[in-house]
Amino acid sequence: MTTEFKIIGFTDKVNECDCCGKTELKGTYCIYIDGNEFYYGSTCASNTIKVSSDDIKKEVKKIELEKSINEMVLNAKFEYQQNKVFKLAIKKGITKVEFLLKYGEIVDVMNTEKCYQYGSFNSYISN
Ligand SMILES: [Zn+2]
Repeated sequence: MTTEFKIIGFTDKVNECDCCGKTELKGTYCIYIDGNEFYYGSTCASNTIKVSSDDIKKEVKKIELEKSINEMVLNAKFEYQQNKVFKLAIKKGITKVEFLLKYGEIVDVMNTEKCYQYGSFNSYISN
């Protein structure tokens, strides 16, 4: 059986490593190992998942960006704000298609393509 790892995020609220017991860490990475939650310092996290600590940092950045965009999408009720969220997401490296597929509303269907809309932005995307 292979062990499954999933990085959930970084927290400065837990300062002790569940792996080696080291304390007074600046923060720990929250990791799911086979569905159980653990808090590991960066060295133990990187050794356990066998991913470089730079890659873990990158992954956490991605997760946090996604979280903040999810939040902004939920809060953006008006077209003006929706457009602002859309533009910001694009600026942060999310593609127009990715964004529209995830947050857009289907406003039209044409054969193999669906028109996704978010704010005043829309695009026909094929399935
Ligand atoms: Zn440790």
